[in-house]
Amino acid sequence: MTTIYDLDAVEELRVRNAVQPHRLKLFRNALFKNSNDWKSALGTLPEAARSDFEDGLKFQCLELAERHDSEIDGASKLIFKTHDHHLIESVVLRPKTGRTSICISSQIGCACYCSFCATGMMGFTRNLTIAEILDQITQTNRMLKPEGRSIRNVVFMGMGEPLLNMENVFQALDYLMDPQLYDLTGSRITVSTVGIPQAMDRFTEMYPDVHLALSLHSARQEVRQRLMPQARVYPLEQIRDTLLKASAHGKVMIEYLMLAGVNDREEDFQALEKYLKGIPVHINLIPFNEYAGSNLRGTPLSERKAFGEKLKVAGFNTTLRYSMGSDIAAACGQLVQHKKKESLI
Ligand code: SF4
Repeated sequence: MTTIYDLDAVEELRVRNAVQPHRLKLFRNALFKNSNDWKSALGTLPEAARSDFEDGLKFQCLELAERHDSEIDGASKLIFKTHDHHLIESVVLRPKTGRTSICISSQIGCACYCSFCATGMMGFTRNLTIAEILDQITQTNRMLKPEGRSIRNVVFMGMGEPLLNMENVFQALDYLMDPQLYDLTGSRITVSTVGIPQAMDRFTEMYPDVHLALSLHSARQEVRQRLMPQARVYPLEQIRDTLLKASAHGKVMIEYLMLAGVNDREEDFQALEKYLKGIPVHINLIPFNEYAGSNLRGTPLSERKAFGEKLKVAGFNTTLRYSMGSDIAAACGQLVQHKKKESLI
């Protein structure tokens, strides 16, 4: 069935019911900007048109299956079920700054098989549709409304590699930045990738205002290959050229998950410093959320701090990230993987 995210179908309904454009605008505002429930959004349309819109459109395409709220830091993990009974995750972060953020999924599972990632252990099922990508945001905004919050930042860093679902992710970006729909500025959106040079080039050409984040995790080719099999296809040298091009549009974010004894030693620091020298980047040092089934361990806080200090001294903008939602398995794929195991018992 057609969803509310199919703008052509909605326009067709408008014309068929002789709804004035400004009434359709009110309807869209109610759904996407004011996060009203769909019944009250329908109330913004002329009465005679409401039943046709109600019968002709599907107002949500994901079902909220579970919600887990952290008791530590206000993070929430949401598990959504797709129409074909797959589970995906979104994570809401409510930092003290007040800027509510959501980390959304772009695929069911992932074909990249990063060794530190619970999603990577699941394998790949399929790409999410544009509607499934956007519905994570629409439904979450509705959930947040009673708290007086709405999503300020969207990060494509949940399940899946966004640049391997490029067409749908790009169209979702168009929707997110459309003043008639979500009306977010590009600077409030981040797309994170394992590093696929051609796709990164296309992304930065098409969306120069949207932040690009590279999951680097090691500047040593052999270590990176062990952590991320995709690194064999796209070596560090090739990615560096792409980073340089992308940085012409602004700072690129570098994500660096700190793993004890894997990428946190002096040689790792030196390789990172050398690799990023001359590129305007912002480095995020990320703690590792350990989970059953992975034998990787996170670098202790004191050592993460020391690593971060050295990067700062070397002249890099560096932020030490703290784990949010550690009590609700907020790292990508952990809860869905847990649910899958439960269903096998
Ligand atoms: S870290 Fe991202 S790209 Fe790598 S396996 Fe997990 S979801 Fe896929």
